[in-house]
Amino acid sequence: MTVVSVVGARPQFIKAAAVSRVLRATPGLREVLVHTGQHHDDNMSRVFFEELEIPEPDYHLGIGGGTHGQNTGRMLEAIEGVLLKEKPDWVLVYGDTDSTLAGALAAAKLHIPVAHVEAGLRSFNRRMPEEINRVLTDHVSDLLFAPTETAVQNLLREGIPADKVHLVGDVMYDAALYYGEKAERESQILQRLNVAPKGYILATVHRAENTDDPVRLRVILEALAQVHREVPVVFPVHPRTRKRAEAYGLEELLDRMLTIEPVGYLDMVMLEKNARLIATDSGGVQKEAFFYRVPCATLRDETEWVELVESGWNRLCPPKDVESLVGCFLNVWDGALIFPYGNGRAAAGVATLLAGGGILWSKNVF
Ligand code: UDP
Repeated sequence: MTVVSVVGARPQFIKAAAVSRVLRATPGLREVLVHTGQHHDDNMSRVFFEELEIPEPDYHLGIGGGTHGQNTGRMLEAIEGVLLKEKPDWVLVYGDTDSTLAGALAAAKLHIPVAHVEAGLRSFNRRMPEEINRVLTDHVSDLLFAPTETAVQNLLREGIPADKVHLVGDVMYDAALYYGEKAERESQILQRLNVAPKGYILATVHRAENTDDPVRLRVILEALAQVHREVPVVFPVHPRTRKRAEAYGLEELLDRMLTIEPVGYLDMVMLEKNARLIATDSGGVQKEAFFYRVPCATLRDETEWVELVESGWNRLCPPKDVESLVGCFLNVWDGALIFPYGNGRAAAGVATLLAGGGILWSKNVF
């Protein structure tokens, strides 16, 4: 049985690392890995393949750098070519990027069954490109792997048949458990940056709603720069954020904190574990903050990971004005102990269901 996995962006490499390891250990299952090229810089792509021991992609499509429409269209065409050649039993897609949608759509049009890891997340904000990608992907998927009970309920409310939906847990939790200890052993990032455990704030910003809005980006950067005078702020800067900050004339603010290039996953885990607080608009980083029991100030108006807010670990801090953000960042808090993301064996659930379900589905259109 052949599964074509489509990845392209940083968070997908981490999710795929957890799943690929199990898929490739499943007897009778062959995985073909497609990298669309959406993220291609060494520190946004290659480092993850090396550190997380992800196999070399079988296909590297080299598509990125365009608008959403250009990227999605070019990926759709190129992935279709791969699928016609490989004739897989399943196409496996992850999360909510343009690569996810292109993979799902290419497969669905060829009547190849689609499996979606991290199905059912909703922000209910259709202005987010991620929301469009995930809603459309869920609605053409045949096997929907939901990370949480909330995600299951979102899917059922949208009329997706219950027999397609499986609550397997969160594959990012699998990755956090698997690589957490490796990070402790191997990462030297705290020494390299000369920061003390629990003595700094870790920040990440990359969502279009923040980076593409000069007012919101200025508010975030000003607040971080102010806070840095009291508590050091470590800020691995996403390439898009740097580009926009430069375009809006905000580089000077970046110089007023400890900005670094994006780091590999093991260094990131180490930075997360030891932060006093994490300020982020990332989906993955919000959850990782919780996995390591670090308070998280989320730089958004809403979040898909609502259970984190309900438990108290995560506070929504919409970047509207500098003063309230500074107040948010200088606080620390904790929350209730909850276990909404499974037991660290979500990838095993994905592999089992794919292997079992694949037999039913192997009669496809070829
Ligand atoms: N991450 C990383 N290095 C960084 C910033 C983030 O390894 O410099 C990891 C982070 O630990 C998490 C994932 O990238 O596992 C999150 O990706 P991102 O924030 O790009 O996307 P999102 O989760 O919002 O989809």
